[in-house]
Amino acid sequence: MFRLLKGFGVTLNYFRQKKVTIQYPEERVAMPPRYRGIHRFFPDKCIVCNLCVQVCPTDVITLTGKKSEENPKKKVIETYNIDFQGCILCDFCTEVCPTDAIVMTARYNNLSSFNRAEHFKDIKWLSDNHIYGNYEESDPAPEAGERGEVK
Ligand code: SF4
Ligand code: SF4
Repeated sequence: MFRLLKGFGVTLNYFRQKKVTIQYPEERVAMPPRYRGIHRFFPDKCIVCNLCVQVCPTDVITLTGKKSEENPKKKVIETYNIDFQGCILCDFCTEVCPTDAIVMTARYNNLSSFNRAEHFKDIKWLSDNHIYGNYEESDPAPEAGERGEVK
């Protein structure tokens, strides 16, 4: 009997402890600043060096460049895509990029889908992926629980 009561005591003690679970997706976990989440791309910074494509271990980055109209000796980015079906969020592409044109954000959600084609993200999607990212200079830092996709 004593052991039974002791067991109940242990269980009841858990009710007094602080909750560690959250009501996802209404509540969001604030990710640490160096979290490696879904990428953001800055087309203006890209020099079309192709290093990110070469370093990607899963070959999920594709890009094309074109001659700059202002300076024909320079190349500018035309298309930039990441297929997140194969991306392992390893950070290699962002590490190797000499101009920080591709960076990782705090965003971790909104890649689940019933349609594989939706995992293929183009230059527009990657450029717009700045909400709650770690690298958005103009926005104030998000409050805890605010991070995540709002589109
Ligand atoms: S994070 Fe890794 S796997 Fe994903 S696109 Fe970059 S290099 Fe490729
Ligand atoms: S490594 Fe950076 S600058 Fe070079 S092509 Fe990739 S995103 Fe552009």
